Amino acid sequence: MLFPTRCPACGHENRAEFADSSIHDLTCASCGARYCLFIRKQRFEVLFDLGTRALMDGYAREAVASFAAALERFFEFYVRAFALERAANTEGDFTAASAELDATWKHVASQSERQLGMFALAYLLREGCAPDFLSPQALGADFRNRVIHRGSLPRREEVEAYAARVFALIDRLLTELGSGAAHAELAQEQAFAAHLDALPDGVTAVFEEHPGMFRAQRFGSERPGKTHPARSVGAGPLSAPLNDAQAFARALAERGSLLTLLKKS
Ligand SMILES: [Zn+2]
Repeated sequence: MLFPTRCPACGHENRAEFADSSIHDLTCASCGARYCLFIRKQRFEVLFDLGTRALMDGYAREAVASFAAALERFFEFYVRAFALERAANTEGDFTAASAELDATWKHVASQSERQLGMFALAYLLREGCAPDFLSPQALGADFRNRVIHRGSLPRREEVEAYAARVFALIDRLLTELGSGAAHAELAQEQAFAAHLDALPDGVTAVFEEHPGMFRAQRFGSERPGKTHPARSVGAGPLSAPLNDAQAFARALAERGSLLTLLKKS
């Protein structure tokens, strides 16, 4: 998936391809200047936005794969945020904790069922209650499998309902994570810093924050949970009910136009 980026030297609009690392080493097609673009966005956000864009453009079936992948990557994000938050609360060293986390994740990286297991435990330990929203029905697993593995052609309304379900779940868990999410974001900042340090002379570093379905909300308002360590365990879920179909529709109306960066052209 290509997106437009402006050369910091001459202003020419180049096109770049989203990278897993969010780090893009680029050379301007017009003036030849080299620059490195860092996009402060988590993979689950990129995937969800790509799904939303595909849905808006009429690619309902393709959208399902992106929404499903967004949810899986969000579970990883949650596990990472939880593990790093816990290390920080016990005054652990961030770099060491991050390395142990990476080594642990290797055991589950290739199997989504294992990742779901890790997420379930992380949720229990952090919130003190069972992740009752993980049932196949609640996750829309049948629908997803029918579309992705059995080639079913979904109707747009079905995809919108699935998107709404995934959106509501991620939105609720982000709310519960509150400032805990910053720990996983710090890991991205560290990867950026390491890459930045190694950039050769003459390469300009450019940092961007691309607006998206979650981003605006995450940084646009104070979230509950800021004082998480003091929150009592067992307090239970604190936010919007699951399957709030309106939440996705509202976000789409408010922020869908922000996704123009992803427009196919
Ligand atoms: Zn240029």
